Amino acid sequence: MDSSTRPVTVIPISAFKDNYLWLLCRGAEAVVVDPGDAVPVERTLADRGLKLRAILLTHHHADHIGGVRALLDTREGQSLPVYGPANEPIDGVTDRLKEGDRIVLDAIGITFDILDIPGHTRGHIAYVAMPDESHPEAPLLLFCGDTLFAAGCGRLFEGTPAQMHDSLAKLAALPPDTRVYCAHEYTLSNLRFARAVEPDSDALERRVADADATRARGEPTLPSTIALERATNPFLRVDQAVVREAAERHAPGAGRTALSTFTALRRWKDSF
Ligand code: ZN
Ligand code: FE
Repeated sequence: MDSSTRPVTVIPISAFKDNYLWLLCRGAEAVVVDPGDAVPVERTLADRGLKLRAILLTHHHADHIGGVRALLDTREGQSLPVYGPANEPIDGVTDRLKEGDRIVLDAIGITFDILDIPGHTRGHIAYVAMPDESHPEAPLLLFCGDTLFAAGCGRLFEGTPAQMHDSLAKLAALPPDTRVYCAHEYTLSNLRFARAVEPDSDALERRVADADATRARGEPTLPSTIALERATNPFLRVDQAVVREAAERHAPGAGRTALSTFTALRRWKDSF
């Protein structure tokens, strides 16, 4: 089969304690998302005989950008494009992106649409792609950094609860079968919190059993899907009465609106 007709594959590269650096490959071409460390990226490229064609960055934190300089230095003279958020100063970025922008990566035959998803950081962006243009019905791929996590969401380091709430709503509106590639393996601890919010949820109970079994095999719990997040992620469920009531029990008055519920849940999770 000609490599150009093959769908893209997405490989998790583990780094640090619980980061995933995502590698998208088609044939012998590869693109890396959020390379916090160059060493495991170089090792994976070498092991699989892949050539790095572009770097995508979601936000400026060191565990997402720390490997960029070394990856570029090893490829001097190759003009490797580095895509990153327009509103965050990141060394090495060649293409500064904001919502509404679209980038075409010919090497892997993928087009990414950019979304602004501030909250975790001020300029955080997400990348949304179709994996295989000859199969338009194939699920979309979402690379969302530290904004939407499996069963949770990122901490608010620079943004407001309202910004994060809006950013998550934007991601939740993607098609239900969209594959969610977030940047950390936080799923089990996020699920413990989700259970505290919705102790009677059958969907959550099934997800915990699945995630426990996956981690027991040493495998990533990712990608998730938007459908699964909508069914079990408390931060996407702040319009649900049962979640509002949980927020209200934790902080009287908090359950009044979706945003006040979100704000209370985020604060509760910070000290959970
Ligand atoms: Zn971060
Ligand atoms: Fe991170």
